[in-house]
Amino acid sequence: MIGNLTRLRDSLTGDVLAPFDPEYERARLCFNLLIDRRPAAIVRCANAGDIATALAFAREHDLEIAVRGGGHNPAGHCAVDDGLVVDLSRMRRVEVDLDARLARAEGGATWLDFDAATQARGLVTPGGVVGSTGVAGLALGGGIGHLTAQYGFTCDNLVAAELVTPAGEVVLANDEVTPELLWALRGGGGNFGVATRLTFRLHPLSTVMGGRLDYAGDGVGVALRTFRDVDAEAGDDLSCQAQLTLSEALTPALVVAPCYTGSDEDPEELRALRSVPGLVSDGVRRHAFLDQQRVFDPGYGIDRNYWKSHFVRELPDELIDLLIDRMGALGRPPGAILIESLRGAPKRFGRDTAALGYREAAFNISAMASWTAPALDDEHIAWARDTAAAIEPWSVSGGYANYMQDDEPLDRIRAAFGPESFDRLQFLKSRYDPDNILHRNQNIPPR
Ligand SMILES: Cc1cc2nc3c(=O)[nH]c(=O)nc-3n(C[C@H](O)[C@H](O)[C@H](O)COP(=O)(O)OP(=O)(O)OC[C@H]3O[C@@H](n4cnc5c(N)ncnc54)[C@H](O)[C@@H]3O)c2cc1C
Repeated sequence: MIGNLTRLRDSLTGDVLAPFDPEYERARLCFNLLIDRRPAAIVRCANAGDIATALAFAREHDLEIAVRGGGHNPAGHCAVDDGLVVDLSRMRRVEVDLDARLARAEGGATWLDFDAATQARGLVTPGGVVGSTGVAGLALGGGIGHLTAQYGFTCDNLVAAELVTPAGEVVLANDEVTPELLWALRGGGGNFGVATRLTFRLHPLSTVMGGRLDYAGDGVGVALRTFRDVDAEAGDDLSCQAQLTLSEALTPALVVAPCYTGSDEDPEELRALRSVPGLVSDGVRRHAFLDQQRVFDPGYGIDRNYWKSHFVRELPDELIDLLIDRMGALGRPPGAILIESLRGAPKRFGRDTAALGYREAAFNISAMASWTAPALDDEHIAWARDTAAAIEPWSVSGGYANYMQDDEPLDRIRAAFGPESFDRLQFLKSRYDPDNILHRNQNIPPR
């Protein structure tokens, strides 16, 4: 194998890391420390040719393939024991076409790369809320963030992509020549090829009224109800997320992160959120969109994580009380419950434009267990599963593919798309990856 790796190295513009290389340990690390896998080789590709070479090498040596963008997928799809990782971390260029209002991001760009390049021109695409997350991984699975109500899911703004298929062919996905493939990439994940370049529509935006509002103790229940009511009445110029946690003193805590892009300096919706008695810290102000993107900024590779989510049609009082109750169920801080609003622009796009489903949902609610000690794995995983099971009666479809672990049954993935879209995706999978070479993802098996 070592001799073969030398030959592989010689045929690449990028490089190869094997277990004895000093950079290997860092390069195999995922955001989620629950994942601890040791690939046979990590190929840090520099271009589409490198990707095709790496895929061909893996096929020739019967190595399982994983594709790595930002390394954030909670299921650890970017890592594989004894297999080959197609690592895109050297492909992070982002170009902005000011006249066409488009951004072209290489397949390994992160949201920090993307936002820095687009914000330098006063432009934006709705992305994820954590800068180190991969643009491609997030966009191909959907994409919910601080600008969802304004501009839709990230994938709704994807207008073209260049892929290297498992057979090594370079394929362009766009509305003119391959509309069906573009439709599939809007939610269908990394099932059809390795994206070398993704093109996104841009919107003018420099500053927002945003930041975080922190609530504690008994005020949390009222604050969550106010969050729900404000969200229901708001216009498309307000996106809002809420995150429930438990303090070290075992009392509930809540962060509401609004992102308002209208012209009012004191919008009614923010006044309502600020007037809740349990507010303990008010960090909302007009600031640069880049600062909004730092409101949630966890460290990379420090926690163990297990997530499970449900799309819900409503957030009734009974469910709010249940969520607060669940925070205390473990007797120690279990992680968080994230509530992401799906109101606004996502409803303007449909199943005809994108593969992803769940547009009828009001919120995505995710039980996100996080902890550090391996001895606590079982308890925290059970907490996330039990919490998700308790939310299930309100669920409208399967969970969010981008937050899924790798133990989700195929039925839940199918439900996330709906049976008709799933059939279409399977048909395309048979065309672009008939042998299911790219299966380390929320997999759509070929027919
Ligand atoms: C801290 C954190 C914050 C997050 N925040 C958000 C958020 O705000 N909104 C949201 O919607 N999601 C969010 N996510 C979820 C995230 O969108 C998914 O986990 C996504 O898969 C991460 O992409 P990645 O490239 O970073 O991950 P990786 O683990 O590197 O990749 C995951 C999978 O994506 C596919 N993939 C990645 N790059 C390519 C490519 N170039 N071509 C083809 N396939 C590719 C592959 O199947 C790969 O296995 C977050 C996750 C974390 C851990």
